[in-house]
Amino acid sequence: MNKQNILQLVCSITLILALFALPGSAASEVKASDSELMPRLFSLAESELGELEAENTLIITDLGSSEGSYIYQDAFYKEFFERKLSSTKNLLKVQNSKNSPFWFAFFNKASGNCSFIEINLGAKPELSAPVTRNIAFEKLYSNQTAWTEEVNQKVFKGREFAIVTLANGWVEGLDYELIRCLETHNHFCPGVSSGYVLAKWMEENYPLSEGEQYLVFSCPTWCKEDVFVRLWDATPGKRGLWASELRAEEIEALGGAPAGIFVVWNGKEGKGKAVALNFDFDKVRESCGSKAEDAGWASKYLMDVWLLDDKNWKGLVSEAAVLEIDEATLAELKLADSNPYVTLGLLNPPEKSKPLENANPSEKASTGFFAWLNQLKEN
Ligand SMILES: [Zn+2]
Repeated sequence: MNKQNILQLVCSITLILALFALPGSAASEVKASDSELMPRLFSLAESELGELEAENTLIITDLGSSEGSYIYQDAFYKEFFERKLSSTKNLLKVQNSKNSPFWFAFFNKASGNCSFIEINLGAKPELSAPVTRNIAFEKLYSNQTAWTEEVNQKVFKGREFAIVTLANGWVEGLDYELIRCLETHNHFCPGVSSGYVLAKWMEENYPLSEGEQYLVFSCPTWCKEDVFVRLWDATPGKRGLWASELRAEEIEALGGAPAGIFVVWNGKEGKGKAVALNFDFDKVRESCGSKAEDAGWASKYLMDVWLLDDKNWKGLVSEAAVLEIDEATLAELKLADSNPYVTLGLLNPPEKSKPLENANPSEKASTGFFAWLNQLKEN
């Protein structure tokens, strides 16, 4: 072997070693952070709440969503499973924007105590001092002013509604399918609950046959859309869901409670059934036990709890119309300049609806769904 060949061989070996060494060193850096941060987090939570028993513990977190947090997932699950916790029973891993802070809420059902801890993922990751409050709903409800004050102070950094509703809802018992929707929506509200009721109504009354899928013209919009996205994979990107608003006078003309048009579509046959549904929020509000003077967060949670019981669902969803549609009508429904209710002949086009144009929107907004929405906003 001449000198040049030896030099080439040395260079090749060095290059190969360098290629293997790079990912190895990156992985060991991640592991170094892992080995300290998550054990510290769990110890901190335990110092506030006591032992994290499977029977009493719920952990809510945006681990994996917040930018950079994903590298702590394996270390998190190591601590989590060491404590015999279950990923389907003791964890709500909520979806969040990558720009949002990285946080954890540890909740103990037995005491009602909840510890909120943020993680600052700087060069040297830091845990915030835990903020622990008793958030058992009955306790908060009995002194609403005190909790409203805490909410105003952003005691859980603006996550108060999400944490209180998710933790207390979990105590009541959440179906796993609902949990998936709540993780996507990242809080528990009457809007997402109504979406769950609507989805279950469709699944019961118009179950999918082979080759069929649900397409949703979610008009008007409220928190319900995230349910169809999560349960049916009806994502806007895959042309499964179109969301748009209605004017107050259009809602009124549609009877005051339109909840969208749900299409059972058979792509192969190029035909489907369009089912226009109403949702009776007035009944929810009247039946949930909320009082007029209750704070907004309290009314919403009482509606959530009432909607958790499927015995209460009877009569909430009603059919406004059922129409057979073809590909041409479906294509028309999808257009940006078409109102799906007008396309299906359920609503007059704006230029033909003179009496509606003359209606007083503020007066119309004081009834039905908008009244509910406005009432909550006021609180
Ligand atoms: Zn919501």
